[in-house]
Amino acid sequence: MSQASSTSDRMVWPQGGMSCPVTGCTDKFFNTLNKMRNHYNQFHVLMRDQFACSRCKFYCFKSTEARRHTKKLGNSHLCSVRNIVNQHYINPKDFTLPVIQTPAINQREVDRLQRLEAAKSPTIDLYHARFIDLNYYDSDENHH
Ligand SMILES: [Zn+2]
Ligand SMILES: [Zn+2]
Repeated sequence: MSQASSTSDRMVWPQGGMSCPVTGCTDKFFNTLNKMRNHYNQFHVLMRDQFACSRCKFYCFKSTEARRHTKKLGNSHLCSVRNIVNQHYINPKDFTLPVIQTPAINQREVDRLQRLEAAKSPTIDLYHARFIDLNYYDSDENHH
C-alpha cells in the first residue's frame, strides 16, 4: 500500500505482479495484468454481461466465447447478451484495475524534458562563458 499513486489516478501495474488488495478477497497471486483483469471482472464488477445460448444451456461471460460456441455448433446456437448482477461481487472500494505503463508514455515525457533542457541551457552557458572571459581580461589589464 506504499505505492506512489499521487502521480496518476490509476495505479501502475507492478512488474513482478501482485495479489488482490481488496479486503476479504482471495490471496491468490497474479503475475500478469491479464490474470488480474479476469479476476477483477469476475469478482469486482457489479453488473456483468452474460451471454446465454438460446438453444442449449451454454452460457459464458466473454463475447469471444459466445462467438466460438455459435461457430462450433451452428447458427441455431446464437447467444443473447443480458446484464446480470454479479453473484460473486466483492466491493473493490478504491481499487481500480492497474494500468501498464508503456515505454511510449515515458519516452514522450523524456523527450519533452530534453527539449526544455536544450532550450534553456545554451543561453546560460554563453552568459556564463562571457562573464568569466570579461573577468579574466579585467584582472589581466589591472596587473599591467
Ligand atoms: Zn479480488
Ligand atoms: Zn448452444
